[in-house]
Amino acid sequence: IRCSTPTPVARVSQYACQRRTTTENNNKILTDAFEVLAESYELNQLEGPCLAFRRAASVLKSLPWAVQCLGATQGLPCLGEHTKALIEEILQYGHSFEVEKILSDERYQTLKLFTSVFGVGPKTAEKWYRRGLRSFSDILAEPSIQLNRMQQSGFLHYGDISRAVSKAEARALGNIIDEAVHAITPDGILALTGGFRRGKEFGHDVDFIVTTPEQGKEETLLPNIIDRLKEQGILLYSDYQTSTFDISKLPSHKFEAMDHFAKCFLILRLEGSLVDRGLNSTEGDSRGWRAVRVDLVSPPMERYAYALLGWTGSRQFERDLRRFARLEQHMLLDNHALYDKTKKEFLAATTERDIFAHLGLEYIEPWQRNA
Ligand code: ATP
Ligand code: MN
Ligand code: MN
Repeated sequence: IRCSTPTPVARVSQYACQRRTTTENNNKILTDAFEVLAESYELNQLEGPCLAFRRAASVLKSLPWAVQCLGATQGLPCLGEHTKALIEEILQYGHSFEVEKILSDERYQTLKLFTSVFGVGPKTAEKWYRRGLRSFSDILAEPSIQLNRMQQSGFLHYGDISRAVSKAEARALGNIIDEAVHAITPDGILALTGGFRRGKEFGHDVDFIVTTPEQGKEETLLPNIIDRLKEQGILLYSDYQTSTFDISKLPSHKFEAMDHFAKCFLILRLEGSLVDRGLNSTEGDSRGWRAVRVDLVSPPMERYAYALLGWTGSRQFERDLRRFARLEQHMLLDNHALYDKTKKEFLAATTERDIFAHLGLEYIEPWQRNA
């Protein structure tokens, strides 16, 4: 195939935090394929190859043009032999046999189904699969399986919480949380974070940061919000985790570990006309509400900028911020702090811009972090 290489532009960085990635993806056919492979490796707990495919997908997402021939990918970082073979195959045939094989694989399909339940991770899914279970009814009919509270809610609200949350629904939830925060403390601060802050139209949940300038008061903020939501009758599930934050600890190099701020994973009942149940809603499904997953995190005010940067994502953007800090700047970054290993000191920040500046990075807007 003859194909002109796009006019050479500035070198594409291997780090997502040095690329601008909007929600507009010009290479969706390719990145969807890479993500199937990444997911398959993840479900098999093979971290290395999983990350390699996630990185490759992330690089293609950042391109302002569609890859139309393999030659166009010359000079791009993070694309190995395997990814290049896939690109070639997809450009030629419109799909990849390897990806099709994974998608039709019983093990992949079952593990995907099981992990789509709130509270079920790859390890639990694997355990159930190995016991011969293949469907939700298999699981629910198995007397020896003890579902935890989170998984019980996951099954109970499965239909609702597996359906995407819209921007309008996120806004409605923002109003509810905002009202609660300000009823508790007039100087409370609420910020939308996660995918919706990055400008996504839909999300799997809605993420918020809540805090207050009064030091120490953020500790009681979440329990108070949870009580209020309960009184309003809209709390369907709550998993509250107290803060285990220790200011003297060095930032963690392990990305997948949770942060130490007080947080809660909720399922809320969202009422009202905003709820689009679709034209084909089945009989008896005329209720005017839906269940939605909401995450709240409550850092102390002095760590607000770090928490906001950490919770805005995307996960790939976060991974690369930390990798860049460690490998290029000899610094340690996590959701709580930035530590300069050369100067042996913590770097204070009141805004995200301060953190980018400490790292020697150009500022990347939230809607450019969809890596
Ligand atoms: P989606 O639209 O699917 O919700 P998202 O980017 O908002 O996309 P989330 O899983 O909600 O994805 O995560 C939002 C951000 O919060 C991510 O950047 C992630 O790194 C961070 N995050 C999620 N869970 C935790 C956790 N337990 N501890 C620390 N950070 C977390
Ligand atoms: Mn989210
Ligand atoms: Mn979340």
